[in-house]
Amino acid sequence: MSFFLLALAVRALNLCPPGHGFHSWGTIVALAGLGTAAIDKFIPSAPGWLPYAIGLGCVAHLLGDSITKRGAPWLWPLKSRYEITLIKSSGNKVETEILTPLMGVATVALLWLTVLSPHPLH
Ligand SMILES: [Zn+2]
Repeated sequence: MSFFLLALAVRALNLCPPGHGFHSWGTIVALAGLGTAAIDKFIPSAPGWLPYAIGLGCVAHLLGDSITKRGAPWLWPLKSRYEITLIKSSGNKVETEILTPLMGVATVALLWLTVLSPHPLH
């Protein structure tokens, strides 16, 4: 499951070369494999909250997409998309250069405090 989710993340975040050739999927397999090995080494027993965190993340993502112009396909595989447009554009400078790195650092800090630190907060 970790490998599969990491492979999706590598593709979605464009961490691999574009296209469908060996360079693209070879990079995806290599990065997802490295990530899976790192998780296995540093977080050997998956914490009980992990599935709930992933589920909550998915719902938050769909809700976030639903307030943009493009909407979200709540009844996938049906093609209809649903939206209540509160955000007219996304991907601006503040979002990509300030908010995204800030949330990345916050995620690593929370991961450190809750799981990886020698004295985690429980
Ligand atoms: Zn989305």
